[in-house]
Amino acid sequence: MAGPGPSGLEVLLSTLQDASDSESTLNILNVLDELLSAGTDRRIHYMIKKGGSEALLRTLVNTGCSPSPSSSILVPLLHLLTKVGHRDKKIGHKAEKAGAVLLLLDLLRQSLSDVKMAVACLWLLRVYASCVSTAALLGKNGALEVQFKLIAPHTKKNTRMVKAAIDALAALLNSKWNCRRAVSQGYVSSLLNLYEDWHSNDAENKHIPIRRALLHCLRHLTNLPAGRRALEQDGGMEILFRTTQACLASRGLESLAKSVTQIMRKCYPKQPLPLRSDRSTYSFPLPGCPTLNPESAPTSEADNLEEESDEEDAEIDDLDREEDDDLETDLTKLRTRPEPDRPLEELGQYARLCPELHYDFQDLDSDPDGEESSDGDGFLYGDAGPGPRFFSGGRREDQRSPRSKPVSENQGDPEGEGSGPRQAGSSGGPEPQLNPRDFHSQYLSSGTAGHEVSSMIKCLLEKHRGCIPGHDPRVYTSTAANTKSIAGYSVLAFPDFWGHLPPPYRQPMAQRRQGVQRSKVFEDIQRLLSPADVVDKVVFDLEAPSSQDTVEDSDSLRFYSKFESGNLRKAIQVRSYEYDVILNSDVNCSHYHHWFYFEVSGMKAGVPYRFNIINCEKANTQFNYGMQPVLYSVREALEGNPHWVRAGSDICYYKNHFSQSSLPGRGQKGRTYYTLTFSVTFQHSEDVCYLAYHYPYTYSALQMQLQCLQRTLDPLKVFFQQQTLCETLAGNPCPIITITAQPPSRSWNHLHQFRNRPCVLLTARVHPGESNASWVMKGTLEFLCSSHPVAESLRDAYIFKIIPMLNPDGVINGMHRCSLSGEDLNRQWMKPDLKLSPTIYHTKGFLYYLNSIGRTPLVFCDYHGHSRKKNVFLYGCSIKETFWQSGSTVNTVALKEDPGYRTLPKILDKIAPAFAFQSCSFLVEKSRASTARVVVWREMGVVRSYTMESTYCGCDQGLYKGLQIGTQELEEMGSKLCQGLLALKRNSLLYSKLIIPAPAPGELSDNRLDHKPNSVFDDDEPPCEEEIEYHSDVCSEHGVDSTELDAEVNGGVSDSEEDPPQYGLKTPDRKSRLTAQLPWKPSVEVVAVTLSSHKGFNSSNSHCLDSDLSHVE
Ligand SMILES: [Zn+2]
Repeated sequence: MAGPGPSGLEVLLSTLQDASDSESTLNILNVLDELLSAGTDRRIHYMIKKGGSEALLRTLVNTGCSPSPSSSILVPLLHLLTKVGHRDKKIGHKAEKAGAVLLLLDLLRQSLSDVKMAVACLWLLRVYASCVSTAALLGKNGALEVQFKLIAPHTKKNTRMVKAAIDALAALLNSKWNCRRAVSQGYVSSLLNLYEDWHSNDAENKHIPIRRALLHCLRHLTNLPAGRRALEQDGGMEILFRTTQACLASRGLESLAKSVTQIMRKCYPKQPLPLRSDRSTYSFPLPGCPTLNPESAPTSEADNLEEESDEEDAEIDDLDREEDDDLETDLTKLRTRPEPDRPLEELGQYARLCPELHYDFQDLDSDPDGEESSDGDGFLYGDAGPGPRFFSGGRREDQRSPRSKPVSENQGDPEGEGSGPRQAGSSGGPEPQLNPRDFHSQYLSSGTAGHEVSSMIKCLLEKHRGCIPGHDPRVYTSTAANTKSIAGYSVLAFPDFWGHLPPPYRQPMAQRRQGVQRSKVFEDIQRLLSPADVVDKVVFDLEAPSSQDTVEDSDSLRFYSKFESGNLRKAIQVRSYEYDVILNSDVNCSHYHHWFYFEVSGMKAGVPYRFNIINCEKANTQFNYGMQPVLYSVREALEGNPHWVRAGSDICYYKNHFSQSSLPGRGQKGRTYYTLTFSVTFQHSEDVCYLAYHYPYTYSALQMQLQCLQRTLDPLKVFFQQQTLCETLAGNPCPIITITAQPPSRSWNHLHQFRNRPCVLLTARVHPGESNASWVMKGTLEFLCSSHPVAESLRDAYIFKIIPMLNPDGVINGMHRCSLSGEDLNRQWMKPDLKLSPTIYHTKGFLYYLNSIGRTPLVFCDYHGHSRKKNVFLYGCSIKETFWQSGSTVNTVALKEDPGYRTLPKILDKIAPAFAFQSCSFLVEKSRASTARVVVWREMGVVRSYTMESTYCGCDQGLYKGLQIGTQELEEMGSKLCQGLLALKRNSLLYSKLIIPAPAPGELSDNRLDHKPNSVFDDDEPPCEEEIEYHSDVCSEHGVDSTELDAEVNGGVSDSEEDPPQYGLKTPDRKSRLTAQLPWKPSVEVVAVTLSSHKGFNSSNSHCLDSDLSHVE
């Protein structure tokens, strides 16, 4: 059938062009319409392929150029052209080539009084204008003016024509040239008036499509700065705002509300933040660098912004597209270990960090005066064999580490040595009143001065007796006194001082209220519309502390954050119960605002206060997916509930109208900030409360924890050594801990086993904003020092080297991402600088050292927090998986790779409720080449080198599904990670006995073992019910909606122009009604095809269609 000759369609098309009389032209048009209406879009695309558009355009030119063109032919022809044309991407160019563009414009001009003709012309114009150049050609020939004349204020007549004219105008505005012209002609103002007119007269909402089309024009015009200015000057914001209030209540008007919101957000004038400079209030002179001018950024700072991401978490939205480019597929780079970055002689200094290799265990000797092995490295000699001199179990204190003496478990016992000098002379102070208001931070000064301070502490502790396990307020106070901050903090935040206990209940994810983002955006817009209602009162300013004086005794909230990990820069009261909050940048930076921690007081109970953090930078956060910030109430704490709890309602995160100052050479001009908004209703009036991004965990808290840990552990069982890896830039010691089991005796066998245990290196908190990592580390440390049988086995099995805080300075100074050098320390591992990144330099040096003595760690894990994903998961490194994922053609069969990297995540998936194997990834990305994970894997040869990412939000699987994560769950993760390590010990009976069969009831279910393949790059969030407009600048533009246009065209031949228009038919009938007017009915075998499948034309099916069409013959 499908012979070499022309198909039936081609015959039809050529007959059409040759037809000399109107009757045969009409007949052919009719057959074509019948044909095209029956099938799917494939038929139309087939026709386009066979030259259908050109044939119809030529017919249009032939007919239109005749002396008296007949509308009885032109109307059906224009309809058919519209249907075909809007599926033909090149229709504009074809029309230009055929000379059918200006002809159509002329036809329109001639038929302004013939509604049917005019509408048909407008539809086709709209289709032409989908080509920008054709749109410009039409505009330059006066099409805008012709169409604009047809757009009338509210009317009941010719509404179809009005709609067609507006749609055609909107299409013409695809061209910038047309937009500029329209703006200069004052169309913005006219369109606004028209919109308002239709809005107020269309009380029954019969003409939503017309109103929507008017907004569509405005959306185009406001893409130009001049258009936005015109809209603002003409009071457009007021008009749009006012008219939309009426739309919000009705579901049916959602499309209008959405459109208006987009226009208003776009037109909201951009403003700089109300700051003198975006740069951090604090700067820190770097070693080897000239003193920083606050205005001149170190070059490295800005460069990392694009990379600003949670360790492995590329924050870029279009990660999917970039992932393959980012995968490292250069086998040499993956396999070859680079030369060490320093001379080997330097490594000797790290021997001291292996005290277990040098410790002489004299205290294990029966003879307290035994001197024989006191010299450093001679420890093994002379100890050959289990002699009678060596025994274990002698219960006596470890003289070398007085802190490790066992003390009473009662933490309330104030006999601890912690409070140091401040305790002296504190007894005689006046008894202060014990109201929450009085516990305002000024009384909690950790400075050395002040009787009332220490007496307040004493009084507090006597009255309320701190009782949080592992926390000692006195020790906290004393460790905090030694903590060096850039701002010289002398005040403690109450929660850090007093301590936190997880609340006795679990907190589910917050439910997002429908439309919450829009209502918040509207409140923001109201500031612009009613400036008189805006209080605009600075209530906190780091740079002008006097601003706070005006707040005392006023109705405003009081803000404060000059304490460790605090980072408030400015707070501005906007309305009675609404505050804008600006976070300080990382020191020496002008970026990285995300972490927050501040105090509020002076509140009224029962009133929702709205807080807006207006200088956030991430493109999206879990705040849009059920996460709440955390709150701590001093009054609650004193009443026995010392809890950080998830709090806040009406939470959302969206792009705002504050613009960033453009950095030189970075092309960021116009980049805007994001707002995190939430409302808090305080339980008590005149309370002192703290709000934070996540459960705070300060450097002083770590120091306190380490002290408390040493007090409680059993020194006969636990070998625990705290040393200093190095000092940070600000002079804070960076602790490194060694934990393992004490050898049972000094016998050679015992010491040999002791010293040859494999090493595990754990690090955390390189990113200071990731306080969750510290809570996980707290769990790890406490578990490893505990008397749990698994912990005992672990200590027997391994030597743990732990650096719990790689970036103390960042944590202390309330930074989110960087160190004082203004750099992301987790991008420095390839070549860390001794002076600028000392903690990384020395951690790497220590690893080199371990390597050099043949004690390369079995496992390395760096703890992080992840702001965009739920659950806890690991990132590891695998060459094979990287190659597979990249789709590389390199044959990896011959490649040998130890699959051991999968064991730990697999086992954690079984034993740790918060852990999700399906979120793990083992890909090596180029952009991560200088992270700890990749460098330790590649340069140190650690197969099991991981980043552990813990959610800030919560879990969407497992036992904690639907719950937000708390410190208890994070700490549990830290202990489970250790337990999982036992699985790496082969044939560990203890492991199988202690861990696998003994999970809490319901903790393990077999179905969680079956996971889908890795899909780490998939966005793990389902779309929000409310469409989240992160990018207020971008208006999504829809092309010509074929369904809608079809419905209009097919309804367009109805006799009465007063018929209600057939907009938005659910199941459009593509068949024109023109057939009904004609006597001749072709016998086309109509193939029923579901209309819903609007797929593109598939050429492999073309012959089916061909034979189908051949039936016509
Ligand atoms: Zn991180």
